[in-house]
Amino acid sequence: MNALPMLPFADPGAGYRALKEEIDAALLRAAGSGWYILGEEGAAFEREFAQWLGEGQHAVGCANGTDALMLILRGMGIGEGSTVVTVSHTAVATVAAIEMAGATPLLLDIDPDTYGMDPDELRAVLEDPPPGLPPIRAVIPVHIYGQPVDLMPIKAACDAAGVALIEDCAQAHGARLEGRAVGTIGDAAAFSLYPTKNLGALGDGGVLSTADEALARRIGAIRQYGWVQRYVSDLVGVNSRLDEVQAAVLRVKLGHLDAQNARRRAIAAAYDAALAGSGLAPPVRRPGAEHVFHLYVLRHPERDALMARLKAQGIGTGIHYPVPVHRQPAYAGRVALGPAACAETAKAAGEVFSLPMYPELSEEQVARVCLALRGL
Ligand SMILES: *Cc1c(COP(=O)(O)O)cnc(C)c1O
Repeated sequence: MNALPMLPFADPGAGYRALKEEIDAALLRAAGSGWYILGEEGAAFEREFAQWLGEGQHAVGCANGTDALMLILRGMGIGEGSTVVTVSHTAVATVAAIEMAGATPLLLDIDPDTYGMDPDELRAVLEDPPPGLPPIRAVIPVHIYGQPVDLMPIKAACDAAGVALIEDCAQAHGARLEGRAVGTIGDAAAFSLYPTKNLGALGDGGVLSTADEALARRIGAIRQYGWVQRYVSDLVGVNSRLDEVQAAVLRVKLGHLDAQNARRRAIAAAYDAALAGSGLAPPVRRPGAEHVFHLYVLRHPERDALMARLKAQGIGTGIHYPVPVHRQPAYAGRVALGPAACAETAKAAGEVFSLPMYPELSEEQVARVCLALRGL
């Protein structure tokens, strides 16, 4: 019998408990303010998040990460009659956002080592778009698992083709590429603030960023009925706001994010060391890319057996993602694929699995995972 309790794959409650005093004070402050939507907390969070990202950035809070992507597309005027290129190896949210904006998704394959968009395939579809699709207007690469995608060739291809580059940073708050924060390299970036993300609210939340102040202002209007002034809808809008209570909590958590990302990297290094001599290779790091380990992902053809062995030792695992978007019932046979037909994506979906990874893991818990890994 295993006497130890199951170590969960994710534990958002631990994220709250670790900062309980500060978060409780923020919750009470927001509750007591008497102003709950688009007030001082939200404005301060947007300012602080933009500053944390880098000079010249503007941030707009919204209801969730999916809406952040949708709002960027709408703000850029990309909708019906446009194709938006992304990957199939992502949260369904990325593709859902494209269709919410009214645009047509085109899904590309991934690099099998780092799971990000393949820049060569992107170049191919930009030069020779698949027939029957509306013109390509934007590309959304995903910094999947917390590692920056191979963004520089992707940016060069977008610039050459005159299409917008939107970074999906939902898993990569604080990741850096050649010293620059992800989310500051493309034309705009979307961040999810879902509770398990590297920066997570106590509920739903999202934020987007851009260096284009006019775009930020337009999106700020679109997120609230298209209002530029109260009760005057100059634009066709939606309702997608970040509330004051979440913003107050997020301000606290933002102050700890860099340290928490460093802790994630330290846990990753411990897992790497434990895997030495096992049949499993640690996650591949791209040169010049600073990974923030939203997820620590391994791959093996016998994934299910390995996950069962870890479970028998009280270690929870996850799969991100078991079914690629193009094979989901709502998308299969309907969504357009690039020339590689997402072959590597389908293969990865059958082999990847994720270990427990959150900054609140104790040394003892990390040691438990490492012990189990050594025995694999
Ligand atoms: C979580 C996530 C989203 C969506 O964020 P929500 O806040 O859940 O709407 C989008 N893209 C990726 C890659 C994600 O991981």
